[in-house]
Amino acid sequence: MDVPEPNLTDLILRIDEAITEGREAELLADLQIPVGREDQLDAARDDLIGGLLQAPGIDHRDLGFAEQPGWLRLGIMMAAARWLDGHARTCPHDPTAERPAPVHLALWLPDLVVCEECTHLLVAPEHPSCAGCGVGDGIEEGIGPRLMIVVVGFLAVRVFACTECMPRE
Ligand SMILES: [Zn+2]
Ligand SMILES: [Zn+2]
Repeated sequence: MDVPEPNLTDLILRIDEAITEGREAELLADLQIPVGREDQLDAARDDLIGGLLQAPGIDHRDLGFAEQPGWLRLGIMMAAARWLDGHARTCPHDPTAERPAPVHLALWLPDLVVCEECTHLLVAPEHPSCAGCGVGDGIEEGIGPRLMIVVVGFLAVRVFACTECMPRE
């Protein structure tokens, strides 16, 4: 995993704290990102979770952000920080936190953030490797990296993780 750029470290720590404490809206206000109201953020999150639960084969686990493994939190926060900081590419619909709506990203595609209609842009690699430990799919059936979707606020983060690195309940 890459080391975050120094100027993003502070932002990442603030994001970590805000998400852990459920204060995403407050953080966005602090960053002077003119987001929608908190109820809009909540609605966006509910839409997101509702939509994802209808997808076939989704393994749903309700974990708090603080319970996710460190590598996963760091990966998500770096991606979120780069998006909020204006470093990410987006789909043509230009999802921003100013118009809270479910947004999607994949940890294997750094710096790309897409809206709900454009999740097809998050093409999965042919041979995924675990984002936690780097193990590839050339190993024994059943323990190789599997796709998971982690919902953080109104972000849905796709990531491949092996059984060892997968967050447990
Ligand atoms: Zn889009
Ligand atoms: Zn792993």
